[in-house]
Amino acid sequence: MGKNIAIIGAGLAGLNCAKHLEQLTDAKIDLYEKNQAVGGRIQTDEVDGFLLDHGFQVFLSKYPEAMKTFDYGKLNLYPFTAGAHINGRYVGDPTREPGSLGSTLLAPIGTMKDKLLILKMRFNPPRPKQNQTARELLHEYGFSEKIIKNFFQPFFSGVFLNRELENSAEFFIFLYQLFSADYATLPKKGMQELPQNLAAQLKRTNIHRSTAITINDSTTMTLPNGEVKTYDHIISAHPPKSTEFYSVTTDYFWADDHSPHHFDSAALALFTETKLINHIAPLSIANPHYAPEGKLLLSVNSLTEASTEEISAELTTLYPGISFNFLKRYVITEALPKMKPYIREKNSAISCGDFMETPSINGALVSGRKTAEHIAQL
Ligand SMILES: Cc1cc2nc3c(=O)[nH]c(=O)nc-3n(C[C@H](O)[C@H](O)[C@H](O)COP(=O)(O)OP(=O)(O)OC[C@H]3O[C@@H](n4cnc5c(N)ncnc54)[C@H](O)[C@@H]3O)c2cc1C
Repeated sequence: MGKNIAIIGAGLAGLNCAKHLEQLTDAKIDLYEKNQAVGGRIQTDEVDGFLLDHGFQVFLSKYPEAMKTFDYGKLNLYPFTAGAHINGRYVGDPTREPGSLGSTLLAPIGTMKDKLLILKMRFNPPRPKQNQTARELLHEYGFSEKIIKNFFQPFFSGVFLNRELENSAEFFIFLYQLFSADYATLPKKGMQELPQNLAAQLKRTNIHRSTAITINDSTTMTLPNGEVKTYDHIISAHPPKSTEFYSVTTDYFWADDHSPHHFDSAALALFTETKLINHIAPLSIANPHYAPEGKLLLSVNSLTEASTEEISAELTTLYPGISFNFLKRYVITEALPKMKPYIREKNSAISCGDFMETPSINGALVSGRKTAEHIAQL
């Protein structure tokens, strides 16, 4: 007779844990989710024909764990371009877009040595030291402060959701190499396709939606109606209460012209720290299903507490001549966990989630798999 296992949280980590438990054990699996929808921090709303992800997120299709996890045949992925506009100037990846070589070499973002180092780091990455931050590694590798401010900071602040580049150097190198070889993509029907794709692979997991659980100890938990249930193992697949997060605010704007002058390619627009806006993604140019036909949808992201009015005013100054309409704001206070050593909940359940690996889709999936492998050994 198989064991009884409860997983609390149907984000990517919990879903992937269930998938691997199904493969590795004959356990009876209950997956509890406090919200109606699975997916945790990855959600998409449909508003007036626009697809609005809960905060701007992209999927690197070559994330190693993702390649072992998702049913790619059912994911229709739409890529952004490899390059980006930094303060209005296009900086491309000459190895993938030879036409961008001239503008990239001439872009006043750093010295010629910096630009050569960017290439070198791609093919000959440094080995990060333990506890080294991304910023420390860049300095040690020989990059000038100028290129850090004008390139790495704008680019990676949109990924790390902090401008200090205080994330681990190891995670930075992992991402740098992926971004160099891969494209940031959006699934056809929005980012929520990722958790849905995974949930659709579950064959014998009972998913209990809209069911917030209180974990009492490693084997007992309480349902919302007060019923206490006992399991052989309880997996807490969500960040512990003590987790500190980076936050981000996403304002969605649309315009009638689907590809006005400034948005003629699916390139991200990044800004140095002089702006309230940190990064803008022309979603409907990358993936036309994000907007009704003929319309442009922008995801405008800020790491500050600026109001929608302030963001809107800055957008108009940046792109004069385009009439933008505000659609919706998402303030995501718990976006990416700060990767300090996490403090376990007192309930002693088994922990699972991105906070245990790296703050990313890949990290959440890895944690889900590792947790299932651990339990299968018990
Ligand atoms: C704005 C934003 C931008 C991001 N950008 C990127 C990106 O571009 N690329 C990338 O790779 N990653 C990105 N990420 C990170 C990525 O989305 C997360 O790392 C990943 O989704 C975390 O999955 P998880 O399963 O570990 O946690 P979560 O998604 O947080 O899942 C935890 C689940 O547990 C549920 N839960 C919590 N408590 C209970 C309870 N008591 N009972 C029942 N259920 C409970 C929650 O409702 C939730 O569904 C971004 C995240 C955000 C928010």
